[in-house]
Amino acid sequence: MKIIPKGLTKFNFSDNGSASVECALKMAFQYQYQCGHSRRTRFMCLSDGYHGETIGALSVGTLDLYAKIYKPMLMDTIQIEAPDCYRCKYGKCRDCCGCECFVRAEEAFAEHGDETCAIIVEPLLQGSAGMRIYPPLYLKKLRELCDRYGILLIADEIATGFGRTGKYFACDHAGITPDIMCVSKGLTGGYMPMAITITTDEIYDAFYADYSSGRAFMHSHTYSGNPLGCSAAIAVQGILQNTDVLEKAQERGVYLYARLMETFGDNPNVGEIRSIGLINAIELVEDRESKKGFDSSLRMGYRIYRNALTKGLLLRPLGNVLYFNPPLIINESEIDAAVERCAAAVREVL
Ligand SMILES: *Cc1c(COP(=O)(O)O)cnc(C)c1O
Repeated sequence: MKIIPKGLTKFNFSDNGSASVECALKMAFQYQYQCGHSRRTRFMCLSDGYHGETIGALSVGTLDLYAKIYKPMLMDTIQIEAPDCYRCKYGKCRDCCGCECFVRAEEAFAEHGDETCAIIVEPLLQGSAGMRIYPPLYLKKLRELCDRYGILLIADEIATGFGRTGKYFACDHAGITPDIMCVSKGLTGGYMPMAITITTDEIYDAFYADYSSGRAFMHSHTYSGNPLGCSAAIAVQGILQNTDVLEKAQERGVYLYARLMETFGDNPNVGEIRSIGLINAIELVEDRESKKGFDSSLRMGYRIYRNALTKGLLLRPLGNVLYFNPPLIINESEIDAAVERCAAAVREVL
């Protein structure tokens, strides 16, 4: 069974997500250079994006929490204001908009299109930004815009890949093929360090030439394609393809969302409950009307996390956002237990 988006055919193995992003950035840069576009030296990215913690990955990430102190070391990238559907500036909603916010991308491409080699995005889900979810239409438009300007589209599917969003890859929701796709986390089910940077024949061919031409991609890590990582990945892919794990996970994602709506839907301090596949997030607010968040000094998410721990539930807050990204094999009674404990922790802390 062919699972990756159509047209992605070539694989560069590595051992962690950040490494696969570094590989993607260098590959995009060198591809453009070898195609005669040596002016295309810059990268675009979305605000509040996260792509890992090595220097290149930090440069295309925009969260100060991880990057601030290293700013002088980082590449000068072009940031596009990301969609923020919960607090949409155009007064639209996630499921009924025309991606009005895409105008920010159009402006950036118009201004910097000829100096840009690639744009990197987390497709549909900006995880570290607070599990922010944006519509597939945005990705479709981005694919078209990239084609128009000759800019490569890099999809960082490290968090979203392998069934997390209800489809194999987040890009599948939009029916698009990126030029380069990074995968890691779910590739081995989290059991062994392993990552792949996947690309097209077209990009591969720009590197394939006589040794003496110097066009090769000089990029390797000692543990690239580590055999134990590879065999864990093969085993996990076998399970995903030969069992109903993904189907079940999709159903459980719907169930989890329904349980959260039932439990928190009327809570005046719950601004939004958002869901894509198994990933479900609750954004806490001080005031529902104004969508004003709790002051970060209150550390509301962290306090709820601490309280939940005493109940045997391990949450991982992102500021005022509590999220669930459980194992694909979670069952309904486990979901019930998690939601109940979370509700008790929220009640006690608030
Ligand atoms: C986890 C993650 C990374 C970084 O992967 P590491 O293996 O931690 O280096 C990059 N991008 C996204 C979207 C991630 O979720």
